[in-house]
Amino acid sequence: MFNKILVANRGEIACRVIATARKLGIKTVAVYSDADANARHVKLADEAIRLGPPAPRESYLKADLILDIARRTGAQAVHPGYGFLSENEAFADACVAAGIAFIGPPSSAIAAMGSKSAAKTLMESAGVPLVPGYHGDNQDADFLKAQADAMGYPVLIKASAGGGGKGMKIVESSSDFASQLASAKREAAASFGDDKVLVEKYLTKPRHIEIQVFADQMGETVYLFERDCSVQRRHQKVLEEAPAPGLDEATRKQIGEAAVRAAKAVGYVGAGTVEFIFDVLTGAFYFMEMNTRLQVEHPVTEMITGLDLVEWQLRVASGEPLPLKQHELRIHGHAFEARVYAEDPARDFLPQIGSLIHLQQPAESRHVRVDTGVEAGDEISPWYDPMIAKLIVWDENRDRALDRLAQALTEYEVVGLNTNLDFLGELARHPAFRAQELDTGFIGRHRDALIPAASAVDTETLALAALAELAYAEQQSTLQRQRSNDADSPWWSSDGWRLNQDNRHALHFRIGDTEHAVMAHYREGGYSLEITDASGTLQTLDASGQISHHRINATIAGHRLSASVVRHADQLTLIRDGRNTTLTPFNPLLAGLEAADQGGGLTAPMPGTVVAVHVATGDVVEKGTPLMILEAMKMEHTILAPHAGKVAEVFFKQGEQVREGAALLEITA
Ligand code: ADP
Repeated sequence: MFNKILVANRGEIACRVIATARKLGIKTVAVYSDADANARHVKLADEAIRLGPPAPRESYLKADLILDIARRTGAQAVHPGYGFLSENEAFADACVAAGIAFIGPPSSAIAAMGSKSAAKTLMESAGVPLVPGYHGDNQDADFLKAQADAMGYPVLIKASAGGGGKGMKIVESSSDFASQLASAKREAAASFGDDKVLVEKYLTKPRHIEIQVFADQMGETVYLFERDCSVQRRHQKVLEEAPAPGLDEATRKQIGEAAVRAAKAVGYVGAGTVEFIFDVLTGAFYFMEMNTRLQVEHPVTEMITGLDLVEWQLRVASGEPLPLKQHELRIHGHAFEARVYAEDPARDFLPQIGSLIHLQQPAESRHVRVDTGVEAGDEISPWYDPMIAKLIVWDENRDRALDRLAQALTEYEVVGLNTNLDFLGELARHPAFRAQELDTGFIGRHRDALIPAASAVDTETLALAALAELAYAEQQSTLQRQRSNDADSPWWSSDGWRLNQDNRHALHFRIGDTEHAVMAHYREGGYSLEITDASGTLQTLDASGQISHHRINATIAGHRLSASVVRHADQLTLIRDGRNTTLTPFNPLLAGLEAADQGGGLTAPMPGTVVAVHVATGDVVEKGTPLMILEAMKMEHTILAPHAGKVAEVFFKQGEQVREGAALLEITA
């Protein structure tokens, strides 16, 4: 076994690999970009070496530099994690040439599976079933369109070198083909440096079922059962589970054996995943692709098999045989993984960036596991994937595991940026999901239930916010008094509200577009609060409470309740049962001064690059006309006209960088 390895990755997967290495007594070398100088993976490793600036090209993708660091630090092997260099043949070869083990398959296997098109051709000859489509070399736009026309719509265009759903476009009709092809090619070129695509029949009710395979250097190959990753948004996995519900033993064996055939066909070594698409309507399954690395969702397999897949990777890479034979592998219980992302489900899951001002994870146990690379105070930056953590749960059966998931999600608290936590909670509680209605259209079909429109804030939440504000004001006023007798702060005068026996105070909060007022009257040991409820009725509630360490414990109209409360910048976030309510306290007397310019300007939802400008000054546009395409976090975002009008000015050209909130163009009605 190795004494020391280099982990050529960041975030949760780097932490995950380091944890197993430590368990096995192996020393670790981390690498980091400037954005990650204080990251969790850097702190966990025995040594850490700087790579360069944040951009992956200048840091985590610097193969030569990483190899050089491995040599210098005496690492005997490199674990590439997923993404970055994990499926880079040249890097795998360079490691081997330098006498350093690459913890992954031989470069020939990466090459064979690296192109979705070439892999399909290979699998066809190995007798693995394929989705009907064109995966050849001819990339002529008219030719590809003719192929699609012949197949019948809808069709799917995929980047041949693709991954993570990037460069993938569904085309509904012949007239859309050309523009979708151009967009897919642009995304593919930007993300993978290769714009080759394939076109295949789009299945309308598929499940994504993938098989974990493992092979040792002696050629022994096993499958560690399947994962169902059907719950996806934008073709990216959000929730995975193992085993796949409803899969009978015969089919499980059949798919597992097909996956082993696929792995053997390319001389596979190490951990790999063979992805299949399962047609719910016909029960047929087809090979999609093989990922020649450890997958993000590997923990669900670990939970149901009781194995440590990183340990297996290390053993195999050091030349040991697979620890278990096929007949010794068993499924025990059921596991889910939810990917907690910094994103806004209500805005088509737009990635969010910002600071994790408050972060509290559910307690870990034999049932609950959290794999993460971040800590409170860390930034989710635009440079890397916006995943905050993976929440993994296990129990004896699917129903119980689902209960665990729903519960653990309510215990997960994040303040500072939008997350998909509420969305995941709705998903975990959705009766159709419990009833195993699984296919990749699930989120689209149940969108309204999963992404509820912002509901009116309830009276208790407003009362809690008022108590939190009053406690804060009192604390500030005390501090102020201690510091000086200078009483010029308009918000908390130094004579203090308590002492001022006029004994009432008006509090104003903004939540989204609505404003709420709470009138607080001081009472012995608490307050009487006047709050107008959602139906417009004025309610009077007796309320009292204490805050300590982010928790408020309160009694409101005789109801004892508690919540987490986090103050950040000029806002207040309350978290009750895993649900965030963010309020902005304001002073109505000053509000007029803050009225922002709400003109016809269109702003960038996040920092990015302008990849296309579709309009010019003077153009007349309809509501919904695509105006500009912005690329951010490797995804394209089309900026649409919010209303009909005339383009007054375009502020950016193709290729230019934009800041978040930057005005992009102006449209006059
Ligand atoms: P990537 O490598 O970018 O993740 P995949 O080829 O693995 O792309 O496909 C991602 C997802 O897209 C699949 O899990 C599935 O939901 C969907 N998908 C892929 N191929 C098809 C198809 N032919 N029909 C319908 N959905 C598909």
